[in-house]
Amino acid sequence: KRRIGVMTSGGDAPGMNGSVRAVVRMALHSNCEAYAIYEGYDGLVKGGDMIKEMQWEDVRGFLSEGGTLIGTARCMEFMQRDGRRTAAKNMILKGIDALVICGGDGSLTGADRFRDEWPSLLEELVEKKELTSEQVAPFKHLNIVGLVGSIDNDLSMTDATIGCYSSLARICEAIDSVDTTATSHQRAFVVETMGRHCGWLTLMAGVATGSDFIFIPEQPAKEGWEGNMLAIIHKHRQMGKRKTIVIVAEGAIDEHLNKITPHQIKEILSGAGLDTRVTTLGHVQRGGQPAAYDRMLSTLQGVEAVKAVLEATPDTPSPVICMIENKIVRRPLLEAVAQTKKVAEAIEKKDFKTAMELRDAE
Ligand code: ADP
Repeated sequence: KRRIGVMTSGGDAPGMNGSVRAVVRMALHSNCEAYAIYEGYDGLVKGGDMIKEMQWEDVRGFLSEGGTLIGTARCMEFMQRDGRRTAAKNMILKGIDALVICGGDGSLTGADRFRDEWPSLLEELVEKKELTSEQVAPFKHLNIVGLVGSIDNDLSMTDATIGCYSSLARICEAIDSVDTTATSHQRAFVVETMGRHCGWLTLMAGVATGSDFIFIPEQPAKEGWEGNMLAIIHKHRQMGKRKTIVIVAEGAIDEHLNKITPHQIKEILSGAGLDTRVTTLGHVQRGGQPAAYDRMLSTLQGVEAVKAVLEATPDTPSPVICMIENKIVRRPLLEAVAQTKKVAEAIEKKDFKTAMELRDAE
């Protein structure tokens, strides 16, 4: 029987459990054995009990649980070739030659590198007499399939990453709560949101809560933004609005690439006579139960990931499972990661036009 491993890696995201459940159950349904690798690449490098066979009932209840129940970690050893060689050995000892990884761009880059090096890692294992050539012979190719788990929705080539809609829902709930008190006291609130280099959460939260002003990395604030922001807020107040909400992405910048901070905005609003508070949502945004969309997305993608493993040939590039215009599709993992990196580079070079084009491009 084919043995398929599944792991969650990098930053946790609501919906990761749904993908583990779907991979385990689809693997069993397809007459394969399923293995959970605990604590991300750490589990792969440590081996032994960190790689556990999973049965149907082992993932019962996973769908509605936030975070990741099989753990996640950042693993320095896996960044080194020695660590990846040990990981390869542990996989062979367990008889696993296919790995579904739910993580961010770092985890997926590591996965593709692992697949690339796989044949030479096996040679090294035999040379160093850690395994015999008979032991490695049945494991010529490693199959890797990526699932994008990230609250930031920052990977190119997919419309939604697993976790982003749960995080957006959490941000909206938090802003609704802040709204009540803001309206009561006629206050202004500056809310800081996560998202690293990506403004998706902030932009969508701005639309979904009807906030007054937002700051995102993709559209750096232009010279004179302070006056522009105050004019808009003033107009809203004149129209009878009793509250002011400004949302700032953690990666927000001005056109000179200086970081824009919530406290800087607070000073400006306070200076204009508004009683202003700062709310940093922090890790609240990552937590809690996955939204319905993420349960659906992680389930459909987990099923597709197992299909991709079973259909893979040695020449197929590792796929990442994406959602494009409401369809579950496969795209080359390396291309998706490379394009994501190009977006970040373009933003660093102030080439926002290219950044937006790359992000929009399929
Ligand atoms: P994310 O997957 O959320 O982007 P990280 O970038 O921290 O998170 O990556 C998670 C883990 O993936 C790292 O701790 C490391 O073990 C592995 N990893 C990331 N990049 C590489 C790489 N270039 N080569 C090998 N492993 C990597």
